Amino acid sequence: MIRDWRTVAVSLATVLAVLPAGIVRAEPPDNAAKSDAARCTRPDFRVVLDVGHTAKSPGAKSARGVDEFDFNRRLTRQIDQALREAGFTRTVLMVSEGRANQSLYARVARANELSANLLLSIHHDAVPDRFLEKWEYNGKKEAFSDRFKGHSIFVSDDNLDPKDSLLFASMLGQQLKARGLQYTPHYTESFMGRWRRTLLDADAGVYRYDTLFVLKKTQVPAALLEAGSIANRDEELLMASPERQQLISAAVVDAVDSFCAAQSHKPALQITQRSKAPHVLSAHSHQRARARTGNATPSTLVSQSNFDIH
Ligand SMILES: [Zn+2]
Repeated sequence: MIRDWRTVAVSLATVLAVLPAGIVRAEPPDNAAKSDAARCTRPDFRVVLDVGHTAKSPGAKSARGVDEFDFNRRLTRQIDQALREAGFTRTVLMVSEGRANQSLYARVARANELSANLLLSIHHDAVPDRFLEKWEYNGKKEAFSDRFKGHSIFVSDDNLDPKDSLLFASMLGQQLKARGLQYTPHYTESFMGRWRRTLLDADAGVYRYDTLFVLKKTQVPAALLEAGSIANRDEELLMASPERQQLISAAVVDAVDSFCAAQSHKPALQITQRSKAPHVLSAHSHQRARARTGNATPSTLVSQSNFDIH
C-alpha cells in the first residue's frame, strides 16, 4: 500500500513537470525561493527527535566507558531546546525503553502516530571491534580508536520519501560544514566490510543506508546523525562539551528551517496524499515482515540481516 502511493506520487510529479509553464508548476518560482525563510511556519512544523538506543540497550561505549545512550540523550535534549527556542514548538523528543529490537518497533510506531514532518535520529559513532585498542582510564581497562573522527549522516532509499530525506540530510551536512565540522569519509572504505556505505552527497557527508530500521519504516522524511566518534579519545571530550552540542544544535535548527521552507513549496495534493498514508506500523506490516522470514516474530526479525539497528 505504501509503495503503491509512492508510485502514484512519482507519476504525478512527472506529469506536473511536463505540463506547459503557466498551467501548473511543480517547482517554486524564483521570487518564492528568495523568500524561503518567511515561508516556514515554524509553530506548525513538527520534528520528531529520536534518541538513539535505550537505557537497557545503550549502544556503543565511549573511550572512557560512557554509554552512547547518555551522549545521545544529552545532545538530543540540547537540540530539542534549541528548536523550541527558535519557534519549532511542536518538536517532540522521543526516548524509547526496553531492549533494542523491541524498541525499534515501538519507536517507529510512535513516530508515525505523531503526524510529524521530519524525523531526526541522534547517535554517536564507534568503530568495528577489530579497530579497538586497549588503554586504562580511571583505573579501568577501556577500549578506544583514535583512527576515525567526524560526523556522518545516513538516509534510507526505502523510506517513503527518500528524496526529501536526502534533501534534509544534505541541508544538515551543509550547516555542519559551515560551522567548520568535517564528516568522516571512512564509510566508503573497503575495510568497513558490511558497514561500507555509498556516499550520496560527497560535499555534505550523506551516506545511503537502506536497511536502517528507523529510517526505513518511518513514514516521513528521516535522517540519522552520527554526531561524532566517542571511541576517539579527543572527540569524546569534544562531544561532551556544551560548546560542541550548541554548535550541532544550531546547525540542526538552520537545516530544519531550510527544509520547512522547502516543504512549503510542495503542491498541496502531495502533502494531502502523505497525510492519508497509514500513520502506524500496522499489524499488517508485521504480517508482511513475518511472511518474508517464515514465522519469525517481529523482534526476531529485527536481529536478522533485513534491518540494522545502528
Ligand atoms: Zn547508535
